[in-house]
Amino acid sequence: MAKGNIGVTTDNIFPVIKKFLYSDHEIFLRELVSNAVDATQKLKTLASVGEFKSEMGDTNVYVSVDKNKGTLTVSDHGVGMTAEEIEKYINQIAFSGATEFLDKYKNDANAIIGHFGLGFYSAFMVSKRVEIFTKSYKDAHAQHWTCDGSPEYTLEECDKERRGTDIVLHIDDDNKEFLEEARISTLLNKYCKFLPVNIVFGKKKEWKDGKEVETDEWNIINDTTPAWTRKPADLTEEDYAKFYRELYPYAEEPLFHIHLNVDYPFNLTGILYFPKLKPNVHIDRNKIQLYCNQVFVTDSVEGIVPEFLTLLHGVIDSPDIPLNVSRSYLQSDANVKKISGHITKKVADRLADIFKNSRQEFEEKWDDLRIFIIFGMLTEEKFCEKAMEFALLKNVDGKYFSLNEYRDLIKGEQTDKDNTLIYLYANNVEEQHTYIEAAKAKGYDVLLLDGQLDAHWVGLLEQKLEKSRFVRVDSDVIDKLIVKADAPKVEFSADEQNALSAVFQSQLPKVEKAEFIVSMENLGAEALPVVITRNEFMRRMKDMAATGGNPMMSFYGEMPDNYNLVLNAAHPLVREIVKAEEEACAEKIAPIAEKIHGLDQRKVELKKAHKGKKDDEIPTAEKEELEGIDRQLSELGSEKSAVYSAFAESDSRVKQLIDLALLSNNMLKGKDLAEFIKRSVSLMK
Ligand code: ADP
Ligand code: MG
Repeated sequence: MAKGNIGVTTDNIFPVIKKFLYSDHEIFLRELVSNAVDATQKLKTLASVGEFKSEMGDTNVYVSVDKNKGTLTVSDHGVGMTAEEIEKYINQIAFSGATEFLDKYKNDANAIIGHFGLGFYSAFMVSKRVEIFTKSYKDAHAQHWTCDGSPEYTLEECDKERRGTDIVLHIDDDNKEFLEEARISTLLNKYCKFLPVNIVFGKKKEWKDGKEVETDEWNIINDTTPAWTRKPADLTEEDYAKFYRELYPYAEEPLFHIHLNVDYPFNLTGILYFPKLKPNVHIDRNKIQLYCNQVFVTDSVEGIVPEFLTLLHGVIDSPDIPLNVSRSYLQSDANVKKISGHITKKVADRLADIFKNSRQEFEEKWDDLRIFIIFGMLTEEKFCEKAMEFALLKNVDGKYFSLNEYRDLIKGEQTDKDNTLIYLYANNVEEQHTYIEAAKAKGYDVLLLDGQLDAHWVGLLEQKLEKSRFVRVDSDVIDKLIVKADAPKVEFSADEQNALSAVFQSQLPKVEKAEFIVSMENLGAEALPVVITRNEFMRRMKDMAATGGNPMMSFYGEMPDNYNLVLNAAHPLVREIVKAEEEACAEKIAPIAEKIHGLDQRKVELKKAHKGKKDDEIPTAEKEELEGIDRQLSELGSEKSAVYSAFAESDSRVKQLIDLALLSNNMLKGKDLAEFIKRSVSLMK
């Protein structure tokens, strides 16, 4: 019997291993099973090149627990190890690798947990003693190695009939959970579900007479040839759908899949699925699973695939992704960057392909796809370039256009006098109905942009498309949305405009966090008499603030909403109100206006006299006179307003017109709405 010291510098590395990996003890099973699989695969390779000539026999890997003995055993019939090999691979290399590793990352413990294979020695995370019984395929004596968690081991010959290796873990008291069948079953399902060699865990069970009983059949827990390892040509749509269900039994059918298969300059296979996301519901928690040679590694792929693709589902398998390193390292790794770039390209190509060859399918799925595509366009320059070819715009009638098609569609009607192409859009067909109808009546087309990211997307498209601007359909009166020539004049005098403005101002509603400004336009006799619009810039800023991101934006979020109440000076009703106002107010306003005029003149006189003088050179009496004038002017102003306000109160058309404009904007609610209805009824009498 040989005794020895495992080649380490530290006195006792096992407490270190246990401590470091505290939260992720379970990976020991993955490591031992994949070693068993490796040993089996090696033997198959040797057989295929003729170096191993005997019977292969059973190649299953067996996992079993013995609660009474307190052991967990992983057995294979693979290559096995000779005494020299144990010395080399177990006593020396494996361990020195572990020490080196822990040494290197001792300050980065959190980052490494769960993301690397400590290999064989991870068994000591859960064991007080580990035994190896092994018989090499080479004609050598079977060996028994044992180690109790100190750097001392024993190695001696033993009796073992069959080729292969049994790793026996004597589970320590803190880790009894790993003697529970259910726990092991869950772990095998998580890490070993797609390993390339049969993994057996006990016998299959069935229900008999109301009881679960064992059958004679081995319980194979894995699928040795999962879809991603097969050739796309050999797979049907149903195979892909079935595999998706295997991965996410509770998810809805995906939209479509992308089969990845790269062997140069790195190795990568996998299948990604575009899932059906429910809009505005929290992002689906089914994540992409990362495998390394069919061994499950992690389902947090941040850093390996671009952020927008983390919304996808499926698997990626690559032996080339360095798994035993920290996340931050991963993100700067050149190989990983290449992989990320490649996956992005593949996804873009696949989308372009569906767009080109199955346009109808693409349109049907667009509403579900757009969130990925827009997120991708906003965050990945390369993807954006390609997506400009296949991204779709949908109009309020549910028709879809590529960006190029849409430009051609609106070029004729929607180019303004500065040769800028104006894209009109709505984000709520119901609320903006009046504006949409007005735009359509003009021969314009209106897009529907009601997605979560659309405020940002519109900004991006304005940068990408030349001489183009997106304008929401309710952001201005129709003639100003797309300005084709200089606007027709408002035919009211300055006094009339002031009076009209004061009349409407006096009846504006008090809406919380909203400000109204009254203005006048000549919109033509056919247009509505009063229209409410919202400034495009301010509105967009507020929308962006609402979806978050830039902290600067929250400033806009706090601002009140700005609305314009536009009076159509060409509309007969508005003209009539001007006339009625003059008839009702002229007599009362004239004397006030005269007084104002007199005071204004005196003020100008005084100001002229004071020009160029220092404050102490102006006589006190004159200063006081000026102050008096200002006070009187402000009083007269109030008097004037009171006259207009009294008129506005007496002429129910004013309030009625404002309410109609509010109503068409979905802004008339509650008590105001009730009053409007009452007034409407009385107007009909
Ligand atoms: P790795 O698997 O990355 O090489 P491990 O620490 O898991 O590192 O294993 C170290 C070595 O021990 C393996 O490379 C292999 O040579 C040997 N080994 C481990 N388990 C087995 C086994 N079940 N059968 C044969 N050899 C094994
Ligand atoms: Mg290993």
